[in-house]
Amino acid sequence: MNNLVNNTKFKTLFAVFSVIILFTSKASAQVKIRIFADQTPESAVFSVTTGEYEINSFNGTPRTVKQGTLLVISKFNVKLAIKIMNEKVFVCDSLLLSGRSGKDLFSLRTFGTVPLRQNYSGDLKCLSDLGTLIFINNCDIESYIAGVVKSEGGSGKDPEYFKTQAVIARTYMYRYFNKHAADHFNLCDNTHCQAFNGLTSDSLIIKAVLETKGEVILGPDSALIISAFHSNCGGETSRSEDVWLTSQPYLKKVTDPHCQSSRNARWRKAFSIDDWTGYLRKSGYNATNGNTSLLNFSQMTRTKDYKTGSFSLPLQQIRNDLNLRSTFFSVVVVGDSVILKGRGYGHGVGLCQEGAMEMAAKGFDYRQIIGFYYTNVRISDFIPPSGGNPVSPGRGVFQQ
Ligand SMILES: [Zn+2]
Ligand SMILES: [Zn+2]
Repeated sequence: MNNLVNNTKFKTLFAVFSVIILFTSKASAQVKIRIFADQTPESAVFSVTTGEYEINSFNGTPRTVKQGTLLVISKFNVKLAIKIMNEKVFVCDSLLLSGRSGKDLFSLRTFGTVPLRQNYSGDLKCLSDLGTLIFINNCDIESYIAGVVKSEGGSGKDPEYFKTQAVIARTYMYRYFNKHAADHFNLCDNTHCQAFNGLTSDSLIIKAVLETKGEVILGPDSALIISAFHSNCGGETSRSEDVWLTSQPYLKKVTDPHCQSSRNARWRKAFSIDDWTGYLRKSGYNATNGNTSLLNFSQMTRTKDYKTGSFSLPLQQIRNDLNLRSTFFSVVVVGDSVILKGRGYGHGVGLCQEGAMEMAAKGFDYRQIIGFYYTNVRISDFIPPSGGNPVSPGRGVFQQ
């Protein structure tokens, strides 16, 4: 029992230490993330969990508070109402909470329909906007990448899989660094950009991020690629032009033998013949001869359209309309039912996460995994211009 307790204590200490290693370098580049972006919180509790924070409300002298201090931040019309521990409430236009010790951590708790408490490093800017509080976290890039890997990475546990996801997340971040420039931050924390549910203390993920520090994926034209990924391709990935209309030389069809026995390799969905033909009729289908076998449709390799007789409908549209797991399905009429026999989960473009997990388990390294799913790419270090924060992905210098 003692051993177990000590072991758990050691693991916790190691995890905290690992998080600190990621962001203590003051020279490291920062990224501004709008956190809790898909919620509309009207109040939140900020808590100093490690180090000390300077509170600056821009109307008086800033003050510093220590570990354990709680601030309740509430929306007050277009302003903020701030309450620090047992002190009197004060009102301000905006608030900047800046870490002072170089190893500062805080948590933020909101009270929406699903109350959330998440951990962060670095600074926090708070503003009040129409109907919501806005929180912008200025944090070290590699800590952010580790958090994204935890949030987007799925259930994989192999270090080479985590490295793969880290390089993908970093590539996305630099490519879309100015996505929210008009709003005065870089990226938001939901799937509009990349999911980021705060810091992670997972030591395997942190190690994978450090071992690939700065690495990104470049296409044949030496530009950052669109590092698309999905859960399971069903045995064959999609060409980008079949899903998003634009062709990319690195987002091609790849035959994937690695994901066939994974969790999301197969799916089925049944409809009555009446429901299925009723759906097709809304899109222009007008066959009346009652030969239901015409509804059968076989998809051995990924195609763009569902076809029955002279009627066709984009598979992408069917997927969206009927909320299907993928466009990679065949249609089989059985009695009075139409069975959709599907493969994979997601849009199918780029890297197949479950295939990548299996490749990592078989001993492939992250470079081989990335090279398998993205065609004609290479991994390179991203050097931000003039050694400071990256301003625009297009202005970075790549080290070959
Ligand atoms: Zn966004
Ligand atoms: Zn696959």
